Parts: sequence; structure tokens; C-alpha cells
Amino acid sequence: MKIDRLTVLSLLITIIIAPFLLPGADDAADEALVAKALLWHERALTVDTHCDTPFKLLEKGWDIGQYHKTGERGSGCQDLPRMKEGGLDASFFAVFVGQGPRTPEGHARAKEKAVATLDAMDAMYRKYPDLCGLALTPADARRLEKEGKRAIFIGMENGYPLGQDPALIDYFYKRGVRYVTLAHTADNDICDSSTDRKDPEDRGLSEWGRQVVRRLNDLGVMVDVSHISDRSFSEVLALSRAPVIASHSCARALSASPRNLSDDMLLALKRNGGVIQLCILDDYIKQPPANPERDRAFAELWQRIDETYGGWGGIKDKAVRDKVEAEYDALGARYPNPPVYVKDAVDHIDHIVRLIGIEHVGIGTDFDGGGGLADCRDVTELKNITIELVRRGYDEDAVAKIWGGNAMRVMQKVMDLAKK
Ligand SMILES: [Zn+2]
Repeated sequence: MKIDRLTVLSLLITIIIAPFLLPGADDAADEALVAKALLWHERALTVDTHCDTPFKLLEKGWDIGQYHKTGERGSGCQDLPRMKEGGLDASFFAVFVGQGPRTPEGHARAKEKAVATLDAMDAMYRKYPDLCGLALTPADARRLEKEGKRAIFIGMENGYPLGQDPALIDYFYKRGVRYVTLAHTADNDICDSSTDRKDPEDRGLSEWGRQVVRRLNDLGVMVDVSHISDRSFSEVLALSRAPVIASHSCARALSASPRNLSDDMLLALKRNGGVIQLCILDDYIKQPPANPERDRAFAELWQRIDETYGGWGGIKDKAVRDKVEAEYDALGARYPNPPVYVKDAVDHIDHIVRLIGIEHVGIGTDFDGGGGLADCRDVTELKNITIELVRRGYDEDAVAKIWGGNAMRVMQKVMDLAKK
């Protein structure tokens, strides 16, 4: 087609004027769909099975009871008022400790860090009894939802703080921990990680790891298989008497990250009765194109953060954190990756549902741990996921299962199978 002046003019008129015209049939249909999605989002018990917000509790000058504006420097992905605005009823807050030396001293320090995070969470429940409460069971979450409070569960990301001490498994259970992610980004005494670059050999689950899985089963604590190596995954599934959770992972068939689950692993998860909670972290949803310069620049920044503060979570001062965050954002702007959207995340959900059915998938955002998408930057924008699900034809029952029904079913089953 030859583009003449008239075509350009009519195009321009369409672009400029169209938004001011009365809504057509399509717009009205879309408005009705969005209204339906928001209603279903409101009616469901919405559960996010993974976020790293607790490290912000330890940060001076940041208050989880205060409303922080989306996108503002240092605001993080959520606080209690924003969780309410976003219609998120329940969330598993991660007690996270990065992997360090596998020595008695290293284990003692890891335990100390985990205890400090748990203490900060206890202080949160005490300070904001009208905004949130500790949830230990699905029934707790439903009760707190009725009271209009956020239900905050506790998960432990990385079993490193357990050292090799069986008594610590029981101790952390008593402190409220209801899942343990066996490993993080590096191998530990429990099992091998999916991303340990220093030691690519996959040794799977150790003898101590087997003891941990058995004790977690007996206590009724969920075993979390996110982050662990493929061999660890299959050895855990062979051993566990209870269903497992992948608290924040995606489908490897759509994005080849070792952090994601292959179709074979997803099929094994279905046989186990467990659940995969989709992680809305851009790199897991869509692998970015190779960019060695970007990788190098970020590796340097991370190394500096590790050396100066002992990791991201070690930055306790808000002003310092804002400065480092600005540096991080500047690097991202200098070496941009293509944006990843909610629709890309829902492609993973579609794939998982086609492969293993609607009973085995949910959502674990990884907010404040790298999670967030171009059109779902924080908890107030989670509704965009529901809108996309409804657009693709998921009914209210399916939406409720994805938004927490499945995760709560697995949690209840794990509790029912406990032998205390
Ligand atoms: Zn993680």
C-alpha cells in the first residue's frame, strides 16, 4: 500500500481522537471482563508463596505499616497497606540467609541471622495487630482474611541455618516456619543447588538432607524444591511421604533456566500431588539474550555489595540502600533487557495447566527478591495477572485454585500427614 498524506492524516486522527470517542462494543466487553476479574480476585483467598520482604524489616527508616508509592526509590514491592490495596490476603515471608561457609562458625552465623529475621517478624505482628497476623495453617489465613488483616506465613529460604543440628528443625518449626527451601543458589549440607557454578557436579540429597526431609514430613512442614538441583529434586520426591511445593519456579520448556522445572519434573510433581508456584521474575520467565558486558557489570556490582555490606540484605541504612539501588537501576538502564510482561508469565501457567492440570499451579512472586514485571511492578498490580487469566478463559474456580487454593490444599495435606 502506498502511504499518502491522507492515510497518514487519517491514522493520526484515529490515534489522537479514538480514546475520546464513546466506548465501542469491544471496550464495553473488556470493561465487563476486567470488572469480573477484579471481583474474582477479591473473592478468592489470594496467597503469594514467596517474597523476600522481611529483609526490609531490618532496614532502618523503612516501615511495613506505612504506604509506599509504587515505583518510588526504596519503596520495595510491598507493605501491609499496599498488600491490602492489591487484594493480596496471604503471603509467605521468607526468612532468607545467603549461603556461606559450611563450617560450624558459618552455620552459627546463619542461625543468628535467621533468628534476627524471625525476631523482626515477631515485632511486626506486635506493632501492627490490626493490619496483619501470623498464619500457621490455611484456617488461620481464612480467619485473618475475614478479619480484614494480612495473613503472614513464614517460609525459610535456604536450609543453611539448620546446620547439621536436628534440634534446630524443631526449633524453627516452633518459631512458625512452615516451609523450608532446602538450598539456595549454592550447594549446602542438605543438598545441591541448581545454580552452583563453582561445583557443577550434581550430588543430590545428602544423608543429612534425607534426615531433614523426613523430619519436615513428620512435623507437617512443607518441603520446598525451588532452587535445588535436578537430582536433589527427584531424590526428594522419591523420599517425601507428603506432597512438596516449588514456592517460586517457572517452566523450563518455555525458559531454559536451571531454576525452572522441566516437563518431566512437572509430571513427577503431579504424581507427588504437589504444586509449582509461578515466580514472576523476568529472567526465569524469559531468558534474556546473551550480554557478557551486562553480566560483567552486574557481577562487579554484586561483588562490591558482598564485600562492602556482606550482601544486599546487609545494607541496613535506607539512604545507603537507595544509593545502591540507584546504581543498580542505572546499570539496568545502560544494558537494558527486553521487558517481560504478565502475558509472558501467564504463558507459563497455560503450559503447566496443559501438561499437569489446574490442580498443581499457583503464584510465588519473589517480590523484594528480584520478582516483578513491566506491568506488575508491585503488589498493587497483581490484579493484572487475574485479568490476563480471565481474558484467557480461566473460570472463577480455576482463578481461585491458582491464587492460593492449590497451595493451601498442599499445605493442609502436609499437615494431615504429620506424625508428631
Ligand atoms: Zn529464591
